[in-house]
Amino acid sequence: MAHKADAWFDTGLDHIWRPYCQMKLADPPLPVVATQGTRIKLADGRELIDGIASWWTACHGYNHPYIAATVSEQLRVMPHVMFGDLVHEQALRLAARLCAIVPGGFERAFFSDSGSVSVEVAMKMAVQFWLNKGVGTRRKFLAFKGAYHGDTFATMAVCDPEEGMHSLFKGVLPQNIIADLPRDVETRGLFEALVARHADELAGIIVEPLVQGAGGMLFHEPAVLQHIRSLADKHDLLVIFDEIFTGFGRTGTMFATQAAEVTPDIICLSKALTGGTMPLAATLAQKHVFDAFWSDDPAHALMHGPTFMANALACAAANASLDLFESEPRLAQVAAIEAALTEGLAPCREFGHVSDVRVKGAIGVVELANPFDLDALKRRFVELGVFVRPFGRIIYLTPAFTIEQEELQQLSYAVVKTVSKME
Ligand SMILES: *Cc1c(COP(=O)(O)O)cnc(C)c1O
Repeated sequence: MAHKADAWFDTGLDHIWRPYCQMKLADPPLPVVATQGTRIKLADGRELIDGIASWWTACHGYNHPYIAATVSEQLRVMPHVMFGDLVHEQALRLAARLCAIVPGGFERAFFSDSGSVSVEVAMKMAVQFWLNKGVGTRRKFLAFKGAYHGDTFATMAVCDPEEGMHSLFKGVLPQNIIADLPRDVETRGLFEALVARHADELAGIIVEPLVQGAGGMLFHEPAVLQHIRSLADKHDLLVIFDEIFTGFGRTGTMFATQAAEVTPDIICLSKALTGGTMPLAATLAQKHVFDAFWSDDPAHALMHGPTFMANALACAAANASLDLFESEPRLAQVAAIEAALTEGLAPCREFGHVSDVRVKGAIGVVELANPFDLDALKRRFVELGVFVRPFGRIIYLTPAFTIEQEELQQLSYAVVKTVSKME
């Protein structure tokens, strides 16, 4: 595919290392010159409707004027100041707001700059929670098949074994216990036995509540999480919810934790935290977790501190994003998206090569029975004027909550049309 772009494209392309990509085989990336609302503008003048909102971060659409104005003002006053021994209004307001709106009575927020790091921090908190209590044996985690918690070494080790490339990095990754999600009576029995067997070496259980995102867009019921919580209580394990994908309305409630009616001990947030404008993540801890670090012993402190933690621009963007959740009908928009995707993607059920169609909140998934040529598919989508980025056997839509009904129809139509041609 030929793009007309300025010299920056031709000159720079040979010097970037792209994510998740066999660069020798893949199509070149699309040069983007601007974004607006739900649109991505390409260098050659074409405009694509964005079906996935930049890895589901841009929940208010791109370039929301209110976030832009808030960040501009913060840029004028103070773009960044280190968080060691200094604090600022945007971070403290954000910490208090997150602790107030995330259900379950969280007390402390630790800021970092990416989802993976927020999960690393959660894991570090969990292990040191036990160390500070004088328990040196609880250092592993129980995680689940189909999970995705990040790309760093500690987080890869709690991802799905294939997704997390456990065999490729064998001997490098820490060893954890990976279980099937306890979805039914049979897996519950196995899960209970597994937890009982390993409880003494486990710091905690980590799970994405209701939707396992990048590991396959797999859904599960609140009962699964309730079961995990009750077993964790029985064996005295910490529960970490990774709400990086599900947080901020994506599944239909502000947090999946709400619909699950389960309270974790630690929760990770990122992705849509700043409305897709700035990198930022937060690890929230309940009081009883924090209390294990609150001591007269300096060695009991949490030894972590990213250089750009609580960046003032990012915190300003996050505060502005939370304002928008308060002032605009985001959850109603998510409900409308759910209805539109349910209807719009339904025709895919008729195709023999489609193994499942599922929708939850503003997440629409078409799962194919067999792997397919991803690049060919992506080209098809661009020809139809949409940006959709399938992976594995999954074609998914996670649009901005502000998307128009007509644009949603165009997205659904593009998916149905493309899938129909694959037979
Ligand atoms: C994206 C994601 C992460 C990793 O976040 P990064 O910012 O890419 O490091 C972790 N967990 C979940 C559930 C995610 O969706």
